[in-house]
Amino acid sequence: MIPSLPRSRDDALAEDLADPLASFRSAFRIDEAGPIYLDGNSLGRQPYATAPAIGDLLTQWERELIGGWQDWERHLFALGDEIARLLGARPGEVIISDSTTVNCYKLAVGALDARAGRTRVLGDANDFPTVRYVLQGICASRGMRLELLESDPREGLDERQVAAALDEDVALVCVSGTNYRSGATLDLGALCAAAHGAGTLVLADLSHTAGSVPVDLERAGVDLAVGCTYKYLNAGPGAPAWLYVRRALQEQLRQPIWGWWGQRDQFAMGPRYEPAPGIARFLTGSPTMLALEAVRTGIAPLLEAGMAALWDKTSRLVALLASRVEERCLDLGAHLASPSDARRRGGHLAVAHEHAFAACRLLAERGLVIADFRGPDVIRLAPVALYTRTVDVWDAVEHLAAVLADSAVKMERPRTRFT
Ligand SMILES: *Cc1c(COP(=O)(O)O)cnc(C)c1O
Repeated sequence: MIPSLPRSRDDALAEDLADPLASFRSAFRIDEAGPIYLDGNSLGRQPYATAPAIGDLLTQWERELIGGWQDWERHLFALGDEIARLLGARPGEVIISDSTTVNCYKLAVGALDARAGRTRVLGDANDFPTVRYVLQGICASRGMRLELLESDPREGLDERQVAAALDEDVALVCVSGTNYRSGATLDLGALCAAAHGAGTLVLADLSHTAGSVPVDLERAGVDLAVGCTYKYLNAGPGAPAWLYVRRALQEQLRQPIWGWWGQRDQFAMGPRYEPAPGIARFLTGSPTMLALEAVRTGIAPLLEAGMAALWDKTSRLVALLASRVEERCLDLGAHLASPSDARRRGGHLAVAHEHAFAACRLLAERGLVIADFRGPDVIRLAPVALYTRTVDVWDAVEHLAAVLADSAVKMERPRTRFT
C-alpha cells in the first residue's frame, strides 16, 4: 500500500525530512536560488565528483602518457559492469561505446544479420525519432519492410499489439522501454516472450528507463539494449552511450562497424578483421576516456542508492505530480498525457496543454521551473529521485498553474531550437 500523498506544502516538507535519499542532493552542483529543475530526463545535473575526476585523468595523461591505457582499458570494462548492475544484467554484458544512435544501428544490423532471410522489422510509430530513422535507413538499404505500429500516444505501445503483428518473417522488434514523450513503460518480459515465440529478436532503447525505472534485463529475457548516459545517469552533455547484448547471443552476433577495438587481437595489427570474443566485439574505435570519467561519477550515486529505493521515491513523486496537476491544472485546460494506469508510467509525467510551449518558456523566463516541451502540446516534468524534493514537485505544479492562468501564456512566441 502506498502511504497517502502529501495534502499540503507542509506535508511535502515533512516528507522531505523523512526521505532516506535526501542526502544525495548534496552530491550535485545546485544553485539553491535557481529554478526547480524537472528536466533531468534530458540532461542530468552535474555531480561535484565529476570535475575532480576529470582533473585526475588529465593529470594521469600528463604523467603517464601512452602508459595510461593499461588502466583506461580496465576502466572501460569495469564501468560497463557497473552499468549492468543498474539494468539487471550480468558482468560482461554491457559496454560503453559511441552514441545511442550508433549503438542502435550496430545492434539492429547485427540482429538482422543473425536472422537473415526474414524480411520484416517492427517498431513504434511514436518512438523517439532517432530509433525510427535508424530503422528506416537500415530497412531501406537492405530492402526490408519496416512496420511502425500505431501505438496510442498516451497509453503507449500495447504488447498484445506487437504480438498480433509477429510471425516468423519478423527479424527484429525495436522499441523504447519507456516512451520519451508520454513515459509509457512496456512490459519487456511479455514483449520478449511473444517475440521469442516467433524466433524474433528484441532490441530495447532504454534511454528513458536506465537509472529511473527498474529493469531486469536477464529476467525479462531482453536480447539487446541501448541507452544514453547523459539523462538519468548524469554523465554530462554528449557523454558516450552504453549497449547490452545477452551473453548467450554474443558469439552469434556481429556488428557492421569492423573497427580495431572490436578486433580479437587488437595490437597484432593483422590483415583481417576477426571479432573479439564477448562484449568487446561491439566496440568500434578508441573509447572517450575523459567522458568515461563523467559516466563513472554520474552513476556512482545511483549504485549507492540502489534502483529499488530510487524507484520508490520516483514513482511517488510522479504520483504526486499527477494528482496535483489534476487538482490544480485541469480547469486551466491541461490534461495528463501519460498512461491512465499509474503502473504503466515511467519516471516523468507528460501534461498536455494548448499553450504548452509558451507555458514552458514562461516558467523558464521567470526563473521558476525548467521543464521541457515536446511538440505539439506536451510539457514533460521529470522528478529525479537523487536530487528532486517533494516540495519541489509541490511548488512546480503551483508555478505551472499560475502560468497557465496568466494571459501571457496565450501570446505567440518564436520557437527555440532546443526545447
Ligand atoms: C535521448 C534518446 C536518444 C539519444 O540518442 P543520441 O544518439 O545520444 O543522440 C536515443 N534514443 C532515445 C529513446 C532517447 O530518449
